[in-house]
Amino acid sequence: MENQITQSQFTSLINSMSDGVIVTNELNNIQLYNAAALGLLNINTSIEQKPVDDVVILHDKNNKKKVLSKILESNKKHFENSDLRIYYDDESFIAVSVKIRPIYATYGSKKSGMVIILRDISHEKSLEEERNEFISVVSHELRTPITIAEGNISNAQLMINQKSRQLNIETALEKAHDQIIFLSELINDLATLSRAERGKLGLEISPINVVKLTEAVYKPYKKDAYDKGIELLKKIDSKIEILHSSELYLKEILQNLITNAIKYTERGSVTIGAIMKANGIQFYVQDTGIGIKQADQTKIFEKFFRSEDFHTKEHKGTGLGLYITQKLCTLISAKISVESEVGHGSTFTIYVPNLHLHKK
Ligand code: ADP
Repeated sequence: MENQITQSQFTSLINSMSDGVIVTNELNNIQLYNAAALGLLNINTSIEQKPVDDVVILHDKNNKKKVLSKILESNKKHFENSDLRIYYDDESFIAVSVKIRPIYATYGSKKSGMVIILRDISHEKSLEEERNEFISVVSHELRTPITIAEGNISNAQLMINQKSRQLNIETALEKAHDQIIFLSELINDLATLSRAERGKLGLEISPINVVKLTEAVYKPYKKDAYDKGIELLKKIDSKIEILHSSELYLKEILQNLITNAIKYTERGSVTIGAIMKANGIQFYVQDTGIGIKQADQTKIFEKFFRSEDFHTKEHKGTGLGLYITQKLCTLISAKISVESEVGHGSTFTIYVPNLHLHKK
């Protein structure tokens, strides 16, 4: 009786594990397994007594099959590999880490089988891939301005040595200077992005006075708009209430949108608005600027995307502003969307819900 209870406790223990566990005997047949193993292998029948090679089919990332029995038979004490895949019938796959340990019945006795532990690491892998891709894109984005700045500074040095015309030296230095300014903007954006990615930890929800907040983001841009000959307007719903969200992130989102609206508008106006909605507030930043073509409207939130349009290219930009804006929106559960027509202007709308004060 006591034994049976132990057995059932053991079964529920291994079945409650999220890692797949498979135990083989000395003939490499499966003796024991848990529910997670069946889940990972996408099998819904018993695999007891089946040869492990028929059941656990693993590939490396070059698509080479890993024969488990060979690994099991080799004299290695432990085997670990975090770069393997399990393929499914529809050709999709999951990334798995596999750990294999020998079992010895008693100390010093012959190996009586193996324990195979399978863990789904697809999520970690995709984060790692995203990080690697990001680093390669950033290095690429840094290379062009550095090359241009370096080239122009060398030219200027050469002209000084050759006592060439002063005007050319000035132009070369100006070009180099522009690129250095661009690099510093890029580095600022990358720092904001890194903050946004770690942001969930520091998400501070507080009661926000929306009238004061819009005034605070509106005021500093009045001069920029005035200097460009465009009007900066503010339309705040008179019924507006207190909003519970992150003031810091909301400010950053609105500032990004206002900067873009002013940058991409040559005449007319930019309007910042706020409307009461069920359980939240809808903000919008509307401009009468160059607009965004339909095909680009879904791409503008991607990192480093800048429209090929020559009007866009007239203005400097890193292509990171809206990517950061969207990340910040996700952090505060806000929804951002855009409506735009080339030559007529764009409206970015953000619905910001009230978040509970205790949300961290
Ligand atoms: P950046 O402005 O630094 O290029 P963003 O990520 O802020 O990068 O914007 C991405 C692209 O979206 C811009 O390059 C531009 O093509 C387009 N865009 C963003 N906001 C506007 C706007 N208000 N009007 C027109 N185009 C815009």
